[in-house]
Amino acid sequence: MEIITRQQKMASVAKKLRRENRVLGFVPTMGALHEGHLSLIQKARQMTDEVIVSIFVNPTQFNEGTDFEAYPRDLTADAEILSPFDVDYIYAPDSSEVYGDEYSTFVTVDDIADKLEGSSRPGHFRGVATIVTILFNTIRPDFAFFGQKDAQQVAVIRRLVRDLRFDTEIIVLPIVREDSGLARSSRNERLSAADRKSAAVIFRALSAANEMAMDGERSAGNITDKVREVIETEPSGSIDYIALVNKESLDPIEKIGKEPALLAVAVRFGDIRLIDNIVLNEEE
Ligand code: AMP
Repeated sequence: MEIITRQQKMASVAKKLRRENRVLGFVPTMGALHEGHLSLIQKARQMTDEVIVSIFVNPTQFNEGTDFEAYPRDLTADAEILSPFDVDYIYAPDSSEVYGDEYSTFVTVDDIADKLEGSSRPGHFRGVATIVTILFNTIRPDFAFFGQKDAQQVAVIRRLVRDLRFDTEIIVLPIVREDSGLARSSRNERLSAADRKSAAVIFRALSAANEMAMDGERSAGNITDKVREVIETEPSGSIDYIALVNKESLDPIEKIGKEPALLAVAVRFGDIRLIDNIVLNEEE
């Protein structure tokens, strides 16, 4: 496993590998690696010849400076976590290496980027689409792996890849959860012990909604009411949004039809904002 910090080096290594007809798998992360990230890396290992994991806390996708400052960074610990996973390269550039002094080009995905997370975190997906574009252009991976945990990010990246004709196939993997059902996230470490326990209510609420849908409930209002009712049993949680939307367009749904419906929530515990989701009506 080689750690690369320079953009030019990463680009030239990737170019050489492509010339040798190696299939490149890319897993973008912000570090503080946990089992959610590792599931993507394991899939990349199965599907591709060369696995490249990027670790970069991308400043342009944070809208609260304090959240960016507080984001955990420990490259040595992350490299240690990756050591059993047969990763070929870690790409861990500095912010100055990626954006430099005179950086002025940003990528915006209209419409779907403005919904859900977009309204609570203006500019977030502009930062995501920009960094993904820069990293895809540096590495030119055959496959890139993302988690369904960030469902809107997946919708934005699929649209970005389609619209700008990136020659990279997007692979999306299921949400990895703690034993309590809480979706794994680097932010969980910053929850108090009590909040971490309480936050398991999110998955209980999504599961209750899923059961309702499986029992034939079609009304978005009834389903989101149920989610709210369950989450409100934990007074320490404060709901930011509960939304039932089309999985691709993220347009609100009133009645579940034939298409997969994304039930997405954001809930705050203390000053930590957690997101989670479940897809209703998805064919396996
Ligand atoms: P991050 O480091 O938070 O930017 O996440 C990097 C990638 O890991 C993204 O594609 C996330 O969707 C994915 N990821 C984060 N948490 C999970 C999880 N609990 N299960 C599956 N994938 C995850």
